[in-house]
Amino acid sequence: MDEIQASFGQFGLSDPLIRAIEEVGYEAPTPIQLKTIPLLLEGRDVIGQAQTGTGKTAAFALPILEQLNPRRKEVQALVLTPTRELGIQVAEAMYSYGKHLGVRVLPVYGGQSIGKQIHRLESGVQVVVGTPGRIMDHLRRGTLDFSNLRFIVLDEADEMLRMGFIEDVEWILSNAPEERQTALFSATIPAEVRRIADRYLKDPVMVEIEHRTMTVPTIDQRYVMVSEAQKVGALANVLETQTAPGEAVLIFARTKTGTADLAEKLQARGYAAEAMHGDMNQVQRENVVRRLRSGQLEIVVATDVAARGWDVDRIGMVVNYDIPYDTESYVHRIGRTGRAGRTGKALLFVTPRQKRMLRDIERYTGQRIEPVKVPSPADVAARRTQIFKERILKTLEEEDLELYLNLVEELVEESGYDISEIAAAAARLARGDKPLEVVIEPAPEEVSQTEEGMVRLFIHAGRQAGVRPADIVGAIANEAGVPGRAIGAIDIYNHFSFVDIPAQYLDRVLERMDGVTIRSQKADIRVATPKDQKGVPPQRDFKSRGKRFNPRGRKKPPRRE
Ligand code: AMP
Repeated sequence: MDEIQASFGQFGLSDPLIRAIEEVGYEAPTPIQLKTIPLLLEGRDVIGQAQTGTGKTAAFALPILEQLNPRRKEVQALVLTPTRELGIQVAEAMYSYGKHLGVRVLPVYGGQSIGKQIHRLESGVQVVVGTPGRIMDHLRRGTLDFSNLRFIVLDEADEMLRMGFIEDVEWILSNAPEERQTALFSATIPAEVRRIADRYLKDPVMVEIEHRTMTVPTIDQRYVMVSEAQKVGALANVLETQTAPGEAVLIFARTKTGTADLAEKLQARGYAAEAMHGDMNQVQRENVVRRLRSGQLEIVVATDVAARGWDVDRIGMVVNYDIPYDTESYVHRIGRTGRAGRTGKALLFVTPRQKRMLRDIERYTGQRIEPVKVPSPADVAARRTQIFKERILKTLEEEDLELYLNLVEELVEESGYDISEIAAAAARLARGDKPLEVVIEPAPEEVSQTEEGMVRLFIHAGRQAGVRPADIVGAIANEAGVPGRAIGAIDIYNHFSFVDIPAQYLDRVLERMDGVTIRSQKADIRVATPKDQKGVPPQRDFKSRGKRFNPRGRKKPPRRE
């Protein structure tokens, strides 16, 4: 890649935004940003065909932030998202980009206290990010004022369609001022999304990422499915089990800060690792490359920009710690391994939301990327043991052990211990503080344990209010349109109840059940926490205290998509 390096400077964004981009550690605009930002700055409406992971949030957020007036305490921009999770993510991103402008961003979604939201809205925010149901609610109550609204973004429009929010979205669009700029982002553009665009966008420009079909060199390509929080642990296990000692590994992360953080974490685990990013000058970068080539370094964590144009033959494995923005950079990244006739390995970390990016890469390279499991602690322990044994045998074969043989014989004689016991003590001593076994750190438990693919909800209504399982199934099925048979276990206690629902319905249930009553009791439905279940009896005791009811019998929950 030797084209002239694109930079955020070329958009003419104001200094507070450039500073914020610098702080989040972005080095260069992604392909969707390169195309969308100038159009939105020009005032055009845009349809962006882009999915999560392409950098689409900054593609709309930066030009909107550039154009709104932070001194006016009124809602100037609205971003509609299909889920609470995405809404929070977008709001956090917009907040961090708008930090030096002093822009206030408020996420607004169902399942959160409406009173608090009203209070925040009254105190003056410029950007509102929310799910359609709750936004509609605020508009109807008059607690959200659109008279100064200048920008609307429909994020993941196809998802909003799939989740049945399209009518709500249309209602919101038809209640927004005519004089506004609208951007629609969608991974796919089905007819219904196209219809919305035709109806509510003004002469929109269609923006897509170009997908060139690319040939991939013969490299063993695999992926692991991990959550963001699991990545570091997974990487550590991969490094221990899948790389040969001394093998050079190149890891790609998205941002400067990301490379620095990860290199530091790897150093703390005892690896000779270093970051390489665009803030380092040519000499510093060459220094890193030289040390990797000579074997002084085992791991380099780099951004795409920093790794451009370098040539190291030694790399045995490329890890895509953060998924690349497009197929092209994936192919460039993995092309760093398998050079000079060696066989190379490439591993891609994919979070559940990035599945589509994975499929895109496969489609445009015409090669399958095989799934692998994150190596378990037992795998790591087995590998450590194997390497340690090999080291001992190598020492036996290659070193002069005369002196030590005498020592062992003396010890046997003097101590009366068995020779194998003495060898075990010597091995323990040689390991020092590097244990063979792996200490399993308990995973942070955020939500209550349920069947796989299910989420447990807490309902603030129980037996005293006369709640029966059928009331809960009925309310969820009717209000949120969840098929009754998909609803899982229900536990009813005196003052509250729990119900398991398939995770894919979570956002819809929270959104639609907001304010719903069950047996005249306000349901106050939310995700259950382990704390909710503290003090409630374990399941086998349910007969005496609460009733357990499972409308689906013992069937497995439906698989998540
Ligand atoms: P999105 O597709 O908007 O969900 O963004 C995916 C990820 O890419 C987020 O973690 C962003 O922080 C990150 N990101 C967005 N733009 C850039 C950029 N120009 N350089 C590096 N990372 C970026």
